[in-house]
Amino acid sequence: MRSEKCIRCEKEPATRGYYCEGCNELAKMEDSCRDIAGILDASITKASGGRWGFTLMIFTMGEGGFLTYISNAKREDMILAIKEWLVKQGEQEM
Ligand SMILES: [Zn+2]
Repeated sequence: MRSEKCIRCEKEPATRGYYCEGCNELAKMEDSCRDIAGILDASITKASGGRWGFTLMIFTMGEGGFLTYISNAKREDMILAIKEWLVKQGEQEM
């Protein structure tokens, strides 16, 4: 039995190669996310001429789970868009 820690979260024991179960699942979802983002990016670019950005966030249900995202925008632009959206939702002040 391996006793080494997961190289990603450094919390759980690595049970699948270098990752723990959760990080292994997250890595798989990140691969899927990249595939989905390629399709989204092509569709959005075709429809808008490249003027629209997107962010796709995927997460496990419940507290303490995993979340990952992919975007065609620069990180700072994506974060600003999310903050603006949260303000519009009444969840945050600018
Ligand atoms: Zn891990």
